Amino acid sequence: MPQLPLHHVFHPDHADHYAATLGEGLDHLLRQLKGVAGPATGTTPAQAAERVAAVDLDRPLGDTGQVLAEISRLWLDDAVWFHEPSYAAHLNCPVVVPALLAELFVASVNSSLDTFDQSVGGTFIERRLVEWTAARIGYGEGDDPDGVFTSGGSQSNLQGLLLARGRHERVPAERLRILASAESHFSVQKSARLLGLGDESVVSVPTDERHRMDPAALERSLAACADLGLRPMAIVATAGTTDFGAIDPLDRIADLARAYDAWLHVDAAYGGGLLVSPTRRARLHGIERADSVTIDFHKTFFQPVSSSAIIVRDRATLRPATWHADYLNPREATNPNQVDKSLQTTRRFDALKLWVTLRTMGPDLLGEYVDAVVDLAGRVHERHRDHADLAFAATPELSTLVFRYVPPGPPMDEKESAALNTAIREDLYASGRAMVAATKVDGVQHLKLTLLNPMATVEDISGVLDLVRATGARLAPRPVLEAVR
Ligand SMILES: *Cc1c(COP(=O)(O)O)cnc(C)c1O
Repeated sequence: MPQLPLHHVFHPDHADHYAATLGEGLDHLLRQLKGVAGPATGTTPAQAAERVAAVDLDRPLGDTGQVLAEISRLWLDDAVWFHEPSYAAHLNCPVVVPALLAELFVASVNSSLDTFDQSVGGTFIERRLVEWTAARIGYGEGDDPDGVFTSGGSQSNLQGLLLARGRHERVPAERLRILASAESHFSVQKSARLLGLGDESVVSVPTDERHRMDPAALERSLAACADLGLRPMAIVATAGTTDFGAIDPLDRIADLARAYDAWLHVDAAYGGGLLVSPTRRARLHGIERADSVTIDFHKTFFQPVSSSAIIVRDRATLRPATWHADYLNPREATNPNQVDKSLQTTRRFDALKLWVTLRTMGPDLLGEYVDAVVDLAGRVHERHRDHADLAFAATPELSTLVFRYVPPGPPMDEKESAALNTAIREDLYASGRAMVAATKVDGVQHLKLTLLNPMATVEDISGVLDLVRATGARLAPRPVLEAVR
């Protein structure tokens, strides 16, 4: 019988193979990184699909060099690079190197954080980070906070609402309501579906001119629920909306949550980075009154995906996430098993990334990165807000800029303007020179810059806006331009 080739297994006997493989990979990645010429190459879905489809997965290449070359062809050569200063589309951050060092250990050792007997120290590293985050939130005397790392803000929001649901086990689903601002994240709606509450269970609370939940409107909604015999199961306040970075008035919302005995969940997936900001922590004032909080470390803590957490004020409220399995975490188990708090079972040791980041850089420096991107958004807005061909929808609250390109000349109708702005975005992607996002404001098509790169300068982002303006002028329908001449 031929020997089974076992050198692929991570094992001390194969240390040389491991080191050589990773070394080859690192060289390849660095070569690739140094060759990056822009945030994207403009590859179309059809082109990308065709290359991937051509691979025969049943015939391995065998050789690492060939595999790396293929990865480049299928992915890296056309990847979207978040460290590029003209990448300003979605809520993606460039990642910090200490977290990447940790990632190597996370994947190689492959601890699973569901039980103590699969992670040992890992369980306590995660617990310390949960405690640290809870302390940053400001839970204090009389609170007994806890929480767990999750795969992302969507899962954290789902769990927060599951815990809220757990307080009303005997209330039929059709009588429960979740109140969230009209600009809250769509994962609130999806969570309601997953919890069997139905789309109509989410009450959309109007926002003010700065896109924050209007507390007077919230109070009216709560009163209306009470009148109809409905139970306000949870209020979701957003600390940093995805489009505008708006932070709902947490303190006033907390007063109303208390008055109506509703669970308060704060979705700080985006704004959570303010917890470490040396200058802007006060913007999250009131977050310490939340029953549960979502923090996405993979957004404003510059961590690689995935890294997120749900933090709760009272550990007893985590009970709806607990299930005892005889083979894993039996009721009589005395070990500290994180699975008792998590919606996942097998779970990555993502916490190590934040740990190594904090132990290398410290929280203040991370907070200065957050400040840098918020400052950047403000400065770019100041520089461009008077340009007649750019119509900003709002003054930036965190690090996004929402605007439309408006060509000089007679006003365009809504459809033309939407088509032009969409065309600008597509043209920029196709050119590979910049990436911007799109959104709608009250149904009107806009463009959006999300700035999460602390290395990007005002000049870099001004360059992106100038590119938008030049592209808009080039693509604007003829009559508009002729009218100007
Ligand atoms: C990004 C975001 C989410 C979802 O988080 P994921 O990590 O993408 O699942 C939830 N809420 C807000 C406000 C967000 O910006």
